[in-house]
Amino acid sequence: MNLSRRDLLKASGIGAAALALGGTTASAADTTAASEELMSAPTGKRVLIIGGGWGGLTAARYIKKEAPETEVVVLEKRDMFVSCPLSNEWLAGEIPMDFLTRDYFTAAKEFGYKMLQTTVTGIDRKTRIVTTTTGSIGYDYLVLSPGIAYDYSKWFGKDALAAERCRQECPPALIHGSEHVALKKMLEDFEGGNFIISVPDGAYRCPPAPYERAAMMAHYMKKNGIKGKIIILDPKAKPAPKGPGFLAAYKELYPDIVDYRPNSLVKTVDLDKKEVVVTVTLADERTEEQRIPYAAANLMPVNKASDIIAMAGVSGGKAGWGVMTSPTFQTKADERVFVIGDAVGGYPYPKSGAIANGQGHIVASQIASIIQGRPTLKEVTLPQNICYSMVNGEEAISIGVTFSLMDDKDLNGNDIKVIKPKMTENNTRSTEMGKTTHEWYKGMMRDIFGS
Ligand SMILES: Cc1cc2nc3c(=O)[nH]c(=O)nc-3n(C[C@H](O)[C@H](O)[C@H](O)COP(=O)(O)OP(=O)(O)OC[C@H]3O[C@@H](n4cnc5c(N)ncnc54)[C@H](O)[C@@H]3O)c2cc1C
Repeated sequence: MNLSRRDLLKASGIGAAALALGGTTASAADTTAASEELMSAPTGKRVLIIGGGWGGLTAARYIKKEAPETEVVVLEKRDMFVSCPLSNEWLAGEIPMDFLTRDYFTAAKEFGYKMLQTTVTGIDRKTRIVTTTTGSIGYDYLVLSPGIAYDYSKWFGKDALAAERCRQECPPALIHGSEHVALKKMLEDFEGGNFIISVPDGAYRCPPAPYERAAMMAHYMKKNGIKGKIIILDPKAKPAPKGPGFLAAYKELYPDIVDYRPNSLVKTVDLDKKEVVVTVTLADERTEEQRIPYAAANLMPVNKASDIIAMAGVSGGKAGWGVMTSPTFQTKADERVFVIGDAVGGYPYPKSGAIANGQGHIVASQIASIIQGRPTLKEVTLPQNICYSMVNGEEAISIGVTFSLMDDKDLNGNDIKVIKPKMTENNTRSTEMGKTTHEWYKGMMRDIFGS
Protein backbone atom coordinates (compact mmCIF):
# COMPACT_ATOMS: atom_id res chain seq x y z
CA MET A 1 0.00 0.00 0.00
CA ASN A 2 1.42 3.38 -0.82
CA LEU A 3 1.51 6.26 1.59
CA SER A 4 -1.31 8.22 0.08
CA ARG A 5 -3.66 5.28 0.51
CA ARG A 6 -2.54 4.72 4.11
CA ASP A 7 -2.99 8.43 4.78
CA LEU A 8 -6.42 8.21 3.32
CA LEU A 9 -7.37 5.39 5.65
CA LYS A 10 -5.94 7.22 8.64
CA ALA A 11 -7.88 10.30 7.71
CA SER A 12 -11.05 8.25 7.62
CA GLY A 13 -10.26 6.82 11.07
CA ILE A 14 -9.60 3.30 9.86
CA GLY A 15 -6.38 1.75 11.15
CA ALA A 16 -4.55 -1.24 9.66
CA ALA A 17 -6.06 -3.59 12.23
CA ALA A 18 -9.57 -2.53 11.37
CA LEU A 19 -8.84 -3.11 7.74
CA ALA A 20 -9.90 -6.68 7.46
CA LEU A 21 -8.94 -7.14 3.82
CA GLY A 22 -6.59 -5.00 1.75
CA GLY A 23 -7.47 -3.94 -1.75
CA THR A 24 -4.93 -4.39 -4.42
CA THR A 25 -4.37 -1.30 -6.27
CA ALA A 26 -4.74 2.16 -7.51
CA SER A 27 -2.00 1.45 -10.03
CA ALA A 28 -0.13 -1.60 -11.19
CA ALA A 29 2.85 -0.68 -9.00
CA ASP A 30 0.67 -0.66 -5.91
CA THR A 31 -0.33 -4.29 -6.22
CA THR A 32 2.90 -5.74 -4.82
CA ALA A 33 3.15 -3.25 -2.00
CA ALA A 34 -0.46 -3.84 -1.01
CA SER A 35 0.12 -7.61 -0.86
CA GLU A 36 3.11 -7.17 1.39
CA GLU A 37 1.43 -4.98 3.90
CA LEU A 38 -2.05 -6.27 4.41
CA MET A 39 -3.00 -9.38 6.31
CA SER A 40 -5.30 -10.83 3.78
CA ALA A 41 -4.20 -8.97 0.70
CA PRO A 42 -4.84 -10.88 -2.51
CA THR A 43 -1.96 -12.11 -4.62
CA GLY A 44 -3.88 -11.27 -7.77
CA LYS A 45 -6.80 -9.03 -8.51
CA ARG A 46 -9.72 -8.44 -6.24
CA VAL A 47 -13.36 -8.11 -7.32
CA LEU A 48 -15.65 -6.58 -4.75
CA ILE A 49 -19.35 -7.27 -5.03
CA ILE A 50 -21.82 -5.08 -3.16
CA GLY A 51 -25.04 -7.01 -2.47
CA GLY A 52 -25.40 -10.72 -1.79
CA GLY A 53 -28.70 -11.21 -3.56
CA TRP A 54 -29.71 -12.82 -6.85
CA GLY A 55 -27.28 -10.86 -9.01
CA GLY A 56 -24.33 -10.47 -6.64
CA LEU A 57 -24.07 -14.09 -5.55
CA THR A 58 -24.31 -15.33 -9.14
CA ALA A 59 -21.49 -13.02 -10.16
CA ALA A 60 -19.40 -14.13 -7.15
CA ARG A 61 -19.70 -17.83 -7.95
CA TYR A 62 -18.97 -17.50 -11.64
CA ILE A 63 -16.13 -14.97 -11.46
CA LYS A 64 -14.42 -17.38 -9.08
CA LYS A 65 -15.15 -20.26 -11.43
CA GLU A 66 -13.89 -18.51 -14.57
CA ALA A 67 -10.94 -16.75 -12.95
CA PRO A 68 -10.04 -18.83 -9.86
CA GLU A 69 -6.90 -16.79 -9.20
CA THR A 70 -9.09 -13.75 -8.43
CA GLU A 71 -10.10 -12.85 -4.90
CA VAL A 72 -13.85 -12.31 -4.87
CA VAL A 73 -15.40 -10.62 -1.84
CA VAL A 74 -19.13 -10.08 -1.32
CA LEU A 75 -20.24 -7.29 1.03
CA GLU A 76 -23.75 -7.94 2.33
CA LYS A 77 -25.54 -6.21 5.18
CA ARG A 78 -27.89 -9.07 6.02
CA ASP A 79 -27.13 -12.29 7.84
CA MET A 80 -29.21 -14.61 5.72
CA PHE A 81 -30.47 -14.89 2.15
CA VAL A 82 -34.26 -14.76 1.87
CA SER A 83 -35.83 -15.13 -1.57
CA CYS A 84 -38.54 -12.76 -2.75
CA PRO A 85 -39.50 -15.16 -5.58
CA LEU A 86 -42.01 -17.63 -4.14
CA SER A 87 -42.54 -15.40 -1.07
CA ASN A 88 -46.18 -14.86 -2.11
CA GLU A 89 -46.74 -18.60 -1.78
CA TRP A 90 -45.13 -18.52 1.66
CA LEU A 91 -47.36 -15.55 2.55
CA ALA A 92 -50.40 -17.71 1.84
CA GLY A 93 -49.05 -20.56 3.94
CA GLU A 94 -48.37 -22.86 0.97
CA ILE A 95 -44.64 -23.35 1.54
CA PRO A 96 -42.43 -23.05 4.64
CA MET A 97 -39.87 -20.27 5.22
CA ASP A 98 -37.08 -22.87 4.83
CA PHE A 99 -37.88 -22.97 1.14
CA LEU A 100 -36.95 -19.28 0.81
CA THR A 101 -33.83 -19.10 2.97
CA ARG A 102 -30.18 -20.02 2.49
CA ASP A 103 -27.17 -19.41 4.68
CA TYR A 104 -24.39 -17.36 3.10
CA PHE A 105 -21.51 -19.45 4.38
CA THR A 106 -21.91 -22.80 2.63
CA ALA A 107 -21.82 -21.47 -0.94
CA ALA A 108 -18.98 -19.04 -0.15
CA LYS A 109 -16.90 -21.94 1.18
CA GLU A 110 -17.79 -24.31 -1.62
CA PHE A 111 -17.13 -21.84 -4.42
CA GLY A 112 -14.16 -20.07 -2.81
CA TYR A 113 -15.36 -16.49 -2.51
CA LYS A 114 -15.37 -14.45 0.71
CA MET A 115 -18.52 -13.18 2.36
CA LEU A 116 -18.40 -10.20 4.72
CA GLN A 117 -21.46 -9.15 6.67
CA THR A 118 -21.22 -5.39 6.66
CA THR A 119 -23.05 -2.31 5.40
CA VAL A 120 -21.42 -0.24 2.68
CA THR A 121 -21.35 3.47 3.53
CA GLY A 122 -19.06 4.99 0.91
CA ILE A 123 -17.44 4.35 -2.46
CA ASP A 124 -14.41 6.28 -3.68
CA ARG A 125 -13.82 5.43 -7.33
CA LYS A 126 -10.62 7.53 -7.51
CA THR A 127 -8.81 5.53 -4.83
CA ARG A 128 -10.89 2.41 -5.47
CA ILE A 129 -11.77 2.06 -1.79
CA VAL A 130 -15.15 1.02 -0.42
CA THR A 131 -15.99 2.08 3.12
CA THR A 132 -18.24 -0.02 5.30
CA THR A 133 -19.49 0.05 8.88
CA THR A 134 -16.68 -2.34 9.83
CA GLY A 135 -13.72 -1.08 7.80
CA SER A 136 -12.52 -0.26 4.31
CA ILE A 137 -11.51 -2.41 1.42
CA GLY A 138 -9.91 -1.78 -1.95
CA TYR A 139 -10.85 -3.27 -5.29
CA ASP A 140 -9.69 -3.76 -8.83
CA TYR A 141 -13.22 -4.27 -10.15
CA LEU A 142 -16.47 -3.43 -8.47
CA VAL A 143 -19.85 -5.09 -9.10
CA LEU A 144 -22.91 -3.32 -7.71
CA SER A 145 -26.01 -5.46 -7.19
CA PRO A 146 -27.68 -3.67 -4.28
CA GLY A 147 -31.31 -3.86 -5.48
CA ILE A 148 -34.00 -1.25 -4.94
CA ALA A 149 -35.06 1.32 -2.34
CA TYR A 150 -38.42 2.98 -1.71
CA ASP A 151 -39.30 6.54 -2.63
CA TYR A 152 -42.20 7.76 -0.46
CA SER A 153 -41.79 11.43 -1.42
CA LYS A 154 -44.87 11.50 -3.69
CA TRP A 155 -47.05 10.47 -0.73
CA PHE A 156 -45.35 12.23 2.18
CA GLY A 157 -42.96 14.86 0.73
CA LYS A 158 -39.94 15.13 3.01
CA ASP A 159 -41.70 13.69 6.07
CA ALA A 160 -39.40 10.73 6.73
CA LEU A 161 -41.29 9.77 9.88
CA ALA A 162 -44.59 9.40 8.00
CA ALA A 163 -42.80 7.38 5.32
CA GLU A 164 -41.35 5.04 7.92
CA ARG A 165 -44.70 4.76 9.67
CA CYS A 166 -46.33 3.81 6.37
CA ARG A 167 -43.61 1.22 5.66
CA GLN A 168 -44.27 -0.38 9.05
CA GLU A 169 -48.06 -0.14 9.14
CA CYS A 170 -48.66 -0.98 5.46
CA PRO A 171 -45.51 -2.98 4.60
CA PRO A 172 -44.69 -2.96 0.87
CA ALA A 173 -42.74 -6.24 1.16
CA LEU A 174 -40.73 -5.72 -2.01
CA ILE A 175 -37.51 -6.00 -0.01
CA HIS A 176 -37.00 -9.18 1.96
CA GLY A 177 -37.04 -9.07 5.77
CA SER A 178 -39.40 -7.79 8.44
CA GLU A 179 -41.87 -6.34 5.93
CA HIS A 180 -42.72 -9.81 4.64
CA VAL A 181 -43.14 -11.24 8.13
CA ALA A 182 -45.31 -8.28 9.19
CA LEU A 183 -47.49 -8.65 6.09
CA LYS A 184 -48.02 -12.35 6.74
CA LYS A 185 -49.10 -11.59 10.31
CA MET A 186 -51.51 -8.96 9.02
CA LEU A 187 -53.06 -11.49 6.66
CA GLU A 188 -53.35 -14.11 9.39
CA ASP A 189 -54.93 -11.57 11.78
CA PHE A 190 -57.26 -10.13 9.11
CA GLU A 191 -60.91 -10.51 10.11
CA GLY A 192 -62.63 -8.66 7.28
CA GLY A 193 -63.01 -5.24 5.67
CA ASN A 194 -60.70 -3.90 2.95
CA PHE A 195 -57.19 -5.22 2.47
CA ILE A 196 -55.67 -2.75 0.00
CA ILE A 197 -52.79 -3.66 -2.29
CA SER A 198 -51.34 -0.77 -4.27
CA VAL A 199 -49.21 -1.33 -7.38
CA PRO A 200 -46.22 1.05 -7.61
CA ASP A 201 -46.14 3.79 -10.22
CA GLY A 202 -43.19 3.60 -12.67
CA ALA A 203 -40.55 0.86 -12.99
CA TYR A 204 -40.56 -1.47 -9.99
CA ARG A 205 -39.25 -4.79 -8.70
CA CYS A 206 -41.01 -7.78 -10.23
CA PRO A 207 -43.90 -6.35 -12.27
CA PRO A 208 -46.26 -9.35 -11.73
CA ALA A 209 -45.56 -9.59 -7.97
CA PRO A 210 -48.47 -7.38 -6.72
CA TYR A 211 -51.00 -9.28 -8.89
CA GLU A 212 -49.66 -12.66 -7.81
CA ARG A 213 -49.74 -11.49 -4.20
CA ALA A 214 -53.39 -10.47 -4.52
CA ALA A 215 -54.27 -13.91 -5.90
CA MET A 216 -52.35 -15.76 -3.21
CA MET A 217 -53.82 -13.66 -0.41
CA ALA A 218 -57.31 -14.23 -1.83
CA HIS A 219 -56.52 -17.95 -1.96
CA TYR A 220 -55.62 -17.82 1.74
CA MET A 221 -58.83 -15.95 2.60
CA LYS A 222 -60.97 -18.34 0.58
CA LYS A 223 -59.32 -21.37 2.19
CA ASN A 224 -59.78 -19.98 5.68
CA GLY A 225 -63.28 -18.58 5.17
CA ILE A 226 -62.22 -14.98 5.85
CA LYS A 227 -64.88 -12.53 4.69
CA GLY A 228 -63.27 -9.46 3.29
CA LYS A 229 -62.12 -7.74 0.11
CA ILE A 230 -58.75 -7.38 -1.51
CA ILE A 231 -58.76 -4.10 -3.40
CA ILE A 232 -55.96 -3.75 -5.95
CA LEU A 233 -55.22 -0.12 -6.79
CA ASP A 234 -53.34 -0.03 -10.07
CA PRO A 235 -52.14 3.15 -11.79
CA LYS A 236 -52.10 1.19 -15.06
CA ALA A 237 -55.16 0.52 -17.23
CA LYS A 238 -54.81 -3.24 -16.79
CA PRO A 239 -52.54 -5.68 -14.99
CA ALA A 240 -49.27 -6.20 -16.83
CA PRO A 241 -47.67 -8.57 -17.48
CA LYS A 242 -49.96 -11.61 -17.66
CA GLY A 243 -53.03 -9.35 -17.46
CA PRO A 244 -55.56 -11.78 -19.00
CA GLY A 245 -54.36 -14.63 -16.77
CA PHE A 246 -54.62 -12.58 -13.59
CA LEU A 247 -58.00 -11.08 -14.48
CA ALA A 248 -59.36 -14.56 -15.29
CA ALA A 249 -58.06 -15.92 -11.99
CA TYR A 250 -59.62 -13.05 -10.02
CA LYS A 251 -62.97 -13.51 -11.80
CA GLU A 252 -63.13 -17.29 -11.79
CA LEU A 253 -61.45 -18.15 -8.49
CA TYR A 254 -62.09 -15.15 -6.26
CA PRO A 255 -65.17 -13.26 -7.58
CA ASP A 256 -66.30 -12.19 -4.11
CA ILE A 257 -62.85 -11.34 -2.83
CA VAL A 258 -60.70 -9.52 -5.41
CA ASP A 259 -61.75 -6.08 -6.55
CA TYR A 260 -59.32 -4.92 -9.26
CA ARG A 261 -59.37 -1.15 -9.86
CA PRO A 262 -57.41 0.15 -12.87
CA ASN A 263 -56.28 3.77 -13.43
CA SER A 264 -56.10 4.28 -9.67
CA LEU A 265 -53.02 6.13 -8.53
CA VAL A 266 -52.33 6.48 -4.80
CA LYS A 267 -51.93 10.18 -4.03
CA THR A 268 -51.27 9.90 -0.31
CA VAL A 269 -52.18 7.85 2.73
CA ASP A 270 -54.02 9.08 5.80
CA LEU A 271 -52.43 6.79 8.35
CA ASP A 272 -54.49 8.12 11.28
CA LYS A 273 -57.83 7.58 9.56
CA LYS A 274 -56.59 4.45 7.75
CA GLU A 275 -57.63 5.76 4.35
CA VAL A 276 -55.83 5.67 1.03
CA VAL A 277 -56.36 8.79 -1.06
CA VAL A 278 -56.53 7.84 -4.74
CA THR A 279 -56.65 9.77 -8.00
CA VAL A 280 -58.86 7.79 -10.37
CA THR A 281 -58.76 8.52 -14.10
CA LEU A 282 -62.25 7.99 -15.52
CA ALA A 283 -63.20 6.73 -18.99
CA ASP A 284 -63.69 10.32 -20.25
CA GLU A 285 -60.17 11.24 -19.00
CA ARG A 286 -61.50 13.32 -16.11
CA THR A 287 -59.96 12.53 -12.74
CA GLU A 288 -61.67 12.20 -9.42
CA GLU A 289 -60.32 11.82 -5.92
CA GLN A 290 -61.51 8.94 -3.76
CA ARG A 291 -60.78 8.04 -0.14
CA ILE A 292 -60.79 4.30 0.42
CA PRO A 293 -60.79 2.99 4.00
CA TYR A 294 -58.68 -0.03 4.87
CA ALA A 295 -58.49 -2.53 7.70
CA ALA A 296 -55.09 -3.64 6.43
CA ALA A 297 -52.86 -2.55 3.56
CA ASN A 298 -49.86 -3.58 1.50
CA LEU A 299 -48.85 -0.25 -0.03
CA MET A 300 -45.99 -0.30 -2.52
CA PRO A 301 -44.50 3.14 -3.18
CA VAL A 302 -42.44 4.31 -6.15
CA ASN A 303 -39.22 2.30 -6.48
CA LYS A 304 -35.79 3.82 -6.95
CA ALA A 305 -32.26 2.44 -7.04
CA SER A 306 -30.49 1.61 -3.80
CA ASP A 307 -28.40 4.62 -2.72
CA ILE A 308 -25.27 2.54 -3.41
CA ILE A 309 -25.64 3.50 -7.09
CA ALA A 310 -25.53 7.24 -6.33
CA MET A 311 -22.74 6.62 -3.80
CA ALA A 312 -20.65 5.20 -6.64
CA GLY A 313 -21.53 8.15 -8.87
CA VAL A 314 -22.84 5.91 -11.66
CA SER A 315 -26.52 6.82 -11.53
CA GLY A 316 -28.74 8.77 -13.85
CA GLY A 317 -32.32 10.07 -13.93
CA LYS A 318 -34.66 10.77 -11.05
CA ALA A 319 -34.92 7.19 -9.84
CA GLY A 320 -31.12 6.92 -9.81
CA TRP A 321 -30.81 3.63 -11.72
CA GLY A 322 -27.31 2.69 -12.90
CA VAL A 323 -26.25 3.95 -16.31
CA MET A 324 -24.40 1.28 -18.26
CA THR A 325 -22.72 0.57 -21.53
CA SER A 326 -24.97 -2.21 -22.68
CA PRO A 327 -24.75 -5.13 -23.14
CA THR A 328 -21.77 -5.61 -20.81
CA PHE A 329 -23.17 -3.82 -17.74
CA GLN A 330 -19.98 -1.81 -17.47
CA THR A 331 -20.93 1.65 -16.24
CA LYS A 332 -20.58 4.62 -18.54
CA ALA A 333 -18.76 6.51 -15.77
CA ASP A 334 -16.10 3.92 -14.96
CA GLU A 335 -14.96 0.82 -16.84
CA ARG A 336 -13.99 -0.89 -13.57
CA VAL A 337 -17.50 -0.58 -12.14
CA PHE A 338 -20.41 -2.79 -13.21
CA VAL A 339 -24.09 -2.63 -12.24
CA ILE A 340 -26.43 -5.62 -12.40
CA GLY A 341 -29.85 -6.65 -11.10
CA ASP A 342 -32.74 -4.42 -10.20
CA ALA A 343 -30.49 -1.35 -9.98
CA VAL A 344 -29.96 -1.40 -13.77
CA GLY A 345 -31.69 1.42 -15.64
CA GLY A 346 -32.20 2.51 -19.20
CA TYR A 347 -32.84 -0.92 -20.76
CA PRO A 348 -36.02 -2.89 -21.23
CA TYR A 349 -35.02 -5.52 -18.67
CA PRO A 350 -37.68 -6.25 -16.08
CA LYS A 351 -36.50 -6.14 -12.49
CA SER A 352 -36.48 -9.87 -11.85
CA GLY A 353 -34.35 -12.49 -10.14
CA ALA A 354 -34.00 -14.41 -13.40
CA ILE A 355 -32.61 -11.31 -15.14
CA ALA A 356 -30.31 -10.49 -12.19
CA ASN A 357 -28.98 -14.05 -12.35
CA GLY A 358 -28.42 -13.81 -16.12
CA GLN A 359 -26.64 -10.48 -15.74
CA GLY A 360 -24.48 -11.99 -12.98
CA HIS A 361 -23.29 -14.63 -15.46
CA ILE A 362 -22.57 -12.05 -18.16
CA VAL A 363 -20.61 -9.77 -15.85
CA ALA A 364 -18.68 -12.75 -14.47
CA SER A 365 -17.51 -13.69 -17.98
CA GLN A 366 -16.73 -10.10 -18.79
CA ILE A 367 -14.63 -9.49 -15.67
CA ALA A 368 -12.87 -12.87 -15.91
CA SER A 369 -11.93 -12.05 -19.51
CA ILE A 370 -10.53 -8.67 -18.52
CA ILE A 371 -8.54 -10.13 -15.63
CA GLN A 372 -7.11 -12.95 -17.73
CA GLY A 373 -6.26 -10.68 -20.62
CA ARG A 374 -8.60 -12.47 -22.99
CA PRO A 375 -10.51 -10.47 -25.57
CA THR A 376 -13.49 -8.94 -23.80
CA LEU A 377 -16.95 -9.83 -24.90
CA LYS A 378 -18.08 -7.24 -27.37
CA GLU A 379 -21.35 -8.90 -28.25
CA VAL A 380 -22.46 -10.89 -25.26
CA THR A 381 -25.49 -13.09 -24.95
CA LEU A 382 -28.27 -10.97 -23.48
CA PRO A 383 -30.04 -12.10 -20.32
CA GLN A 384 -33.39 -13.84 -20.75
CA ASN A 385 -36.38 -13.70 -18.46
CA ILE A 386 -38.84 -16.38 -17.46
CA CYS A 387 -41.33 -15.63 -14.74
CA TYR A 388 -44.06 -17.77 -13.21
CA SER A 389 -46.91 -16.50 -11.05
CA MET A 390 -48.93 -18.75 -8.78
CA VAL A 391 -52.64 -17.93 -8.63
CA ASN A 392 -53.64 -20.52 -6.01
CA GLY A 393 -52.01 -23.38 -4.14
CA GLU A 394 -51.37 -25.39 -7.32
CA GLU A 395 -51.74 -23.43 -10.54
CA ALA A 396 -49.56 -20.83 -12.23
CA ILE A 397 -49.35 -18.67 -15.35
CA SER A 398 -46.11 -17.55 -16.98
CA ILE A 399 -44.27 -15.10 -19.18
CA GLY A 400 -41.05 -15.53 -21.10
CA VAL A 401 -39.12 -12.55 -22.43
CA THR A 402 -36.19 -12.83 -24.80
CA PHE A 403 -34.01 -9.87 -25.68
CA SER A 404 -32.04 -9.25 -28.83
CA LEU A 405 -29.82 -6.53 -30.22
CA MET A 406 -31.57 -5.00 -33.22
CA ASP A 407 -30.56 -2.40 -35.77
CA ASP A 408 -32.26 0.94 -35.36
CA LYS A 409 -31.78 4.64 -36.11
CA ASP A 410 -31.23 7.41 -33.59
CA LEU A 411 -33.02 10.77 -33.81
CA ASN A 412 -30.43 12.00 -36.33
CA GLY A 413 -30.87 8.98 -38.57
CA ASN A 414 -27.60 7.31 -37.54
CA ASP A 415 -27.39 3.52 -37.34
CA ILE A 416 -27.55 2.24 -33.78
CA LYS A 417 -28.18 -1.05 -31.97
CA VAL A 418 -31.00 -1.24 -29.46
CA ILE A 419 -32.13 -4.00 -27.13
CA LYS A 420 -35.65 -5.13 -27.95
CA PRO A 421 -37.78 -7.51 -25.89
CA LYS A 422 -40.06 -10.22 -27.28
CA MET A 423 -42.71 -11.48 -24.87
CA THR A 424 -44.55 -14.78 -24.83
CA GLU A 425 -47.28 -15.03 -22.23
CA ASN A 426 -49.04 -18.20 -21.18
CA ASN A 427 -52.18 -16.99 -19.45
CA THR A 428 -53.84 -20.39 -19.12
CA ARG A 429 -53.31 -21.45 -15.54
CA SER A 430 -52.32 -25.06 -14.92
CA THR A 431 -50.96 -27.34 -12.23
CA GLU A 432 -48.19 -28.30 -14.67
CA MET A 433 -47.08 -24.68 -14.65
CA GLY A 434 -47.35 -24.66 -10.85
CA LYS A 435 -44.89 -27.57 -10.69
CA THR A 436 -42.59 -25.84 -13.20
CA THR A 437 -42.57 -22.77 -10.94
CA HIS A 438 -40.98 -24.82 -8.18
CA GLU A 439 -38.57 -26.53 -10.58
CA TRP A 440 -37.48 -23.13 -11.92
CA TYR A 441 -36.87 -21.87 -8.40
CA LYS A 442 -34.89 -24.94 -7.36
CA GLY A 443 -32.79 -24.61 -10.53
CA MET A 444 -32.03 -20.98 -9.69
CA MET A 445 -31.06 -21.89 -6.14
CA ARG A 446 -28.75 -24.62 -7.47
CA ASP A 447 -27.15 -22.14 -9.85
CA ILE A 448 -26.59 -19.56 -7.12
CA PHE A 449 -25.98 -21.74 -4.05
CA GLY A 450 -25.09 -25.15 -5.49
CA SER A 451 -28.07 -26.86 -3.84
C1 LIG B 1 -42.92 -10.61 -3.92
C2 LIG B 1 -41.86 -10.78 -4.96
C3 LIG B 1 -41.90 -11.84 -5.83
C4 LIG B 1 -40.90 -12.00 -6.79
N1 LIG B 1 -40.99 -13.06 -7.65
C5 LIG B 1 -40.05 -13.22 -8.61
C6 LIG B 1 -40.13 -14.33 -9.49
O1 LIG B 1 -41.02 -15.17 -9.42
N2 LIG B 1 -39.16 -14.46 -10.44
C7 LIG B 1 -38.14 -13.56 -10.56
O2 LIG B 1 -37.29 -13.74 -11.44
N3 LIG B 1 -38.05 -12.48 -9.73
C8 LIG B 1 -38.97 -12.28 -8.76
N4 LIG B 1 -38.88 -11.21 -7.90
C9 LIG B 1 -37.83 -10.19 -8.11
C10 LIG B 1 -36.46 -10.54 -7.48
O3 LIG B 1 -36.60 -10.76 -6.11
C11 LIG B 1 -35.49 -9.40 -7.70
O4 LIG B 1 -35.55 -8.98 -9.03
C12 LIG B 1 -34.06 -9.81 -7.36
O5 LIG B 1 -33.96 -10.04 -5.98
C13 LIG B 1 -33.06 -8.73 -7.79
O6 LIG B 1 -31.76 -9.13 -7.48
P1 LIG B 1 -30.67 -8.04 -7.04
O7 LIG B 1 -29.38 -8.78 -6.90
O8 LIG B 1 -30.74 -6.87 -7.94
O9 LIG B 1 -31.20 -7.51 -5.62
P2 LIG B 1 -31.40 -8.32 -4.26
O10 LIG B 1 -31.65 -9.75 -4.51
O11 LIG B 1 -32.40 -7.55 -3.46
O12 LIG B 1 -30.00 -8.18 -3.54
C14 LIG B 1 -29.52 -6.93 -3.11
C15 LIG B 1 -28.69 -7.15 -1.85
O13 LIG B 1 -27.91 -5.98 -1.58
C16 LIG B 1 -27.85 -5.80 -0.19
N5 LIG B 1 -27.48 -4.42 0.11
C17 LIG B 1 -28.21 -3.31 -0.23
N6 LIG B 1 -27.57 -2.20 0.23
C18 LIG B 1 -26.45 -2.64 0.86
C19 LIG B 1 -25.39 -1.96 1.55
N7 LIG B 1 -25.37 -0.63 1.70
N8 LIG B 1 -24.39 -2.71 2.08
C20 LIG B 1 -24.39 -4.06 1.96
N9 LIG B 1 -25.38 -4.74 1.34
C21 LIG B 1 -26.38 -4.04 0.78
C22 LIG B 1 -29.26 -6.19 0.27
O14 LIG B 1 -29.28 -6.51 1.65
C23 LIG B 1 -29.59 -7.37 -0.62
O15 LIG B 1 -29.31 -8.61 -0.03
C24 LIG B 1 -39.84 -11.05 -6.90
C25 LIG B 1 -39.81 -9.97 -6.02
C26 LIG B 1 -40.80 -9.82 -5.06
C27 LIG B 1 -40.73 -8.65 -4.12
